Amino acid sequence: MNRFTLPRDIYFGQNSLEVLKSLKGKKAVIVTGGSSMQKFGFLDKVESYLKEAGMEVEKIEGVEPDPSVETVMKGAELMRSFEPDWIVAIGGGSPIDAAKAMWIFYEHPETTFEDVKDPFTVPELRNKAKFAAIPSTSGTATEVTAFSVITDYKAQIKYPLADFNLTPDVAIVDPSLAETMPAKLTAHTGMDALTHAIEAYVAGLRSPFSDPLAMQAITMVKEYLFDSFNGDKNAREQMHIAQCLAGMAFSNALLGITHSMAHKTGAVFHVPHGCANAIYLPYVIDFNKKACGERYAQIAKNLGLKGNTEDELIDALNNMIKELNKKMGIVQTLKDYGIKEEDFKANLDRISENAVKDACTGSNPRPITVEEMKKLFNCVYYGEKVTF
Ligand code: FE
Repeated sequence: MNRFTLPRDIYFGQNSLEVLKSLKGKKAVIVTGGSSMQKFGFLDKVESYLKEAGMEVEKIEGVEPDPSVETVMKGAELMRSFEPDWIVAIGGGSPIDAAKAMWIFYEHPETTFEDVKDPFTVPELRNKAKFAAIPSTSGTATEVTAFSVITDYKAQIKYPLADFNLTPDVAIVDPSLAETMPAKLTAHTGMDALTHAIEAYVAGLRSPFSDPLAMQAITMVKEYLFDSFNGDKNAREQMHIAQCLAGMAFSNALLGITHSMAHKTGAVFHVPHGCANAIYLPYVIDFNKKACGERYAQIAKNLGLKGNTEDELIDALNNMIKELNKKMGIVQTLKDYGIKEEDFKANLDRISENAVKDACTGSNPRPITVEEMKKLFNCVYYGEKVTF
């Protein structure tokens, strides 16, 4: 049996934030990150719309990037004393992820992180509150996914929580929030979205339900990402939608080893998530093509790229990705990113082992050994063509 789960409602387009005025409930808690949502006035808007809906409002502010177990537990405690029937998370991926985890421990105070760390172990939610998510960046798509990543800094573990109970009830994809993203963040998050879509299109749990969403997202990223990077307002709006489509696809189809590699090098070399994906994706496509070459060729054909053979089409797809990276100032190798050779070599065994163990490796279309992962990382570091 297969399952395909999305939020009950997705509101999108200019002024979609106003739908908050019509939410039904008595109390809402707003969860947000640093100061940018406040600075641009969105936090005040959310608060006043919820009050207009007749709700009492409490705020949890200052959720840090890569939110911690402590932040989650503190937020859950506040929720237990305030008893909201709506959790409204607004901001980048971090506050929304944190709010999803708070939701678990608000509804199930007896539960621990250990209890929910494996996929599909989150207990039934929505007994106390429903969840609305409002993204301000165009990349993670956590507003429509079943995932939340929380960090235990003491144990140095990331918990990638995964369960359809965590898929929000309402996603509000209002482009005005994404207009505030700086160019570099637009580039990185946009390439993250492209990686979500391409990995979902070839991933283990891909299906006729996820394929069209992934393909449409890829088409839109090709059409709009560069203009969005340059600040074009319409392109920014289209990218906000494209990343959400990619999210709906990968929440159900899952991802692959581009993400496994990005997760493990993010922590060690401090490469931002989307930037790491952007660098690794063409190498991973070359590695995976033995298992799913016709799928990548199909993407290239859909994008109108030229090529007579499957290999030519895949090369054209990879060239398109590299070209897009180049135009947005993203380098093609880890060496050019500035990682010193001795640092790379000293960490190669560890990142390769950890990347193979990552939760995203299981859904990659081609299985990979630690030895192969080392070779792949070597190609990514020195910019060599993957031929194995
Ligand atoms: Fe990602």
